[in-house]
Amino acid sequence: MRRKFIAGNWKMFTNAAGAEQLAAAIVKGLGQEMGVDVALCPPFPYLSRVAITLKGSVIALGAQNFYPEKEGAFTGEVSPAMLVDVGCRYAIVGHSERRHKLGETDAFINKKIHSGLAAGLRIILCIGETLQEREANATEKVLDTHVTAGIAGVKASDLQKITLAYEPVWAIGTGRNATPDQAQESHAFVRRRVAQLYGKEAAENLVIQYGGSVRPDNAAILMAEPDVDGALVGGASLQAEQFFAIVRGAMSVK
Ligand code: PEP
Repeated sequence: MRRKFIAGNWKMFTNAAGAEQLAAAIVKGLGQEMGVDVALCPPFPYLSRVAITLKGSVIALGAQNFYPEKEGAFTGEVSPAMLVDVGCRYAIVGHSERRHKLGETDAFINKKIHSGLAAGLRIILCIGETLQEREANATEKVLDTHVTAGIAGVKASDLQKITLAYEPVWAIGTGRNATPDQAQESHAFVRRRVAQLYGKEAAENLVIQYGGSVRPDNAAILMAEPDVDGALVGGASLQAEQFFAIVRGAMSVK
């Protein structure tokens, strides 16, 4: 039985005081027992502060990125071991903003996944098509490439440390979410593909989040789809009340 998983991606927003306040409000509002998994992914400079705020709560800490080396002369970069060291359980990899604005390739993303897993991180791997690709009927081809190239070489025993996040690029930050049918279709495709690669049981246990303009008014209906196991939330995760409502949506359909 898969648990719903809601992660908040704060992107390059908040400041030191604001990050602490937001995390504290979420800890207070969500309490101890939720029956769903929750993680917050603040910007790098605020990870340690937010880690302190989350201590003793059931909310996990996640990072938005890292560089796939243990250490070295990589000015400006952050290693997965450093993230573990400051209390991160998760890291997001392959977000469309990094693929499309920073030119990250599937090969680089795959390297990150191996490096993150080796350091003890759990990975949230984002996959998803652009509008142009959807209109060209290439959605499944893109998802297939993102999944197969992204997790290439990952051992079956490590697959449970990976969450996939289906995030159609045209839905991210646009206010235009995928319909529940569109999300379900893509999630089911991805699960079938993972079943071909790792077997049916591993695929059944795989958590696949949906991301792209998730809001309190569409969260529960999206997560009610059989293959939609939670949400990766950008904009709405910056407002404690909206984030609670999305978590409550997950609780209502778990
Ligand atoms: C995201 O950043 O992963 C995201 C889905 O953003 P938003 O919820 O704002 O569309």
